[in-house]
Amino acid sequence: MTAPFSAASVRAEFPIFRHHPDLVYLDNAATTHKPLAVLDAERHFYETANANVHRAAHRLGAAATDAFEGARHRIATHLNAAHVDEVLFTRGTTEAINLAANSWGRSQLRRGDVVLLSTLEHHANIVPWQLVAQEVGASVQAIPLDADGNLDLTAYHALLTSRVRLVGLTQCSNTTGVQPPLTEMISAAKQIGATVLIDGAQGIGHGGVDVQALGADFYAFSGHKVYAPTGIGVLWARRELLAQMPPWQGGGEMIERVSFAGTTFAEPPFRFEAGTPPIAQAIGLAAALNWLGEQDVSALMAHEIALRDRFEAGIAMLPDVHILSSHNSRGPISALRFDGIHPYDVAQFLDGYGVAVRVGQHCAGPLHQALGLDASLRVSFAAYNSEADVDTALAALAATLELLA
Ligand code: PLP
Repeated sequence: MTAPFSAASVRAEFPIFRHHPDLVYLDNAATTHKPLAVLDAERHFYETANANVHRAAHRLGAAATDAFEGARHRIATHLNAAHVDEVLFTRGTTEAINLAANSWGRSQLRRGDVVLLSTLEHHANIVPWQLVAQEVGASVQAIPLDADGNLDLTAYHALLTSRVRLVGLTQCSNTTGVQPPLTEMISAAKQIGATVLIDGAQGIGHGGVDVQALGADFYAFSGHKVYAPTGIGVLWARRELLAQMPPWQGGGEMIERVSFAGTTFAEPPFRFEAGTPPIAQAIGLAAALNWLGEQDVSALMAHEIALRDRFEAGIAMLPDVHILSSHNSRGPISALRFDGIHPYDVAQFLDGYGVAVRVGQHCAGPLHQALGLDASLRVSFAAYNSEADVDTALAALAATLELLA
């Protein structure tokens, strides 16, 4: 049963705050902390069912395989995937997009084709496409920003020519939190027959996704951004697409039959999962999604957005600091720039006050170039943050700005 949302009760489930009771952790877009339920699930697996999957004749192997494939089912349900074999396990979003680029991209893209990506993208949704495009003679083009920090939709529609084979979009910018209008953008891409990949790294923990309703072809995310362990992520892809895609890594488990005369490959998802997979981590991810499923998710999201708004209202009262985008559709992320002060200095002072934030380009170089910045300071909220966290961060920021002015 779903209990009423309480940030204080949620926080009590995260052991990190027992070890660091005064920590104001506002770096959740980099990685989230893990609730006890996730830590317990991993430990329980190692203590009771540890074995390799899909290969052992013994009962422990069967238990491990059941738990691992159970996790795949749990994730498919969470994404509302039509088929469980559309869920591929990867190490994270980066590996998921590399899989799409190396398998789908390398087999489908041709000289003269265009890969159209947004300026908001994380490097993980740029560099893999550049590598493949360079190899096959395709080009990578960027959808520019509008004055509000959203994507320029007029420019997008003009860029959508018949040469565009792939459109890659983030569900939520990891820097400004801007959430592009995916429904409209995906539908336009589909009208010209392009394949669409959505980077869900910053979306999965804040509202998640219904992949069938979304209408894209690929959806990638990392477990560690949604209260799950590191080392596990997912590429969801339409079954019809996966059926045509060649393997991208070779080894055990992804084959049907191997001989020196030639090798035949397993069906999806196993064709794309060479070697021993991250078994305990997949089980941890399923536990994290179960944990999230027990929360009142709309109240949780409203809480995170209210914290962001409280933070931004406080920022408006401070001198020499500006929010990079105040676009109305944004996740619980806020990025700042300062007049005459380097964000690195601010972040270091904040750390002295026990406030953890991110500073730099957040792996979003092209976005910072478009905004004419060499760095920004980012705060990002999660379920366990409180109003007291926001107030402490604002007080620390005010004191820092006074010192550095
Ligand atoms: N995409 C976005 C939007 C992200 O925020 C991140 C991580 O910060 C990534 C991709 C890469 O995720 P990972 O490092 O877990 O592969």
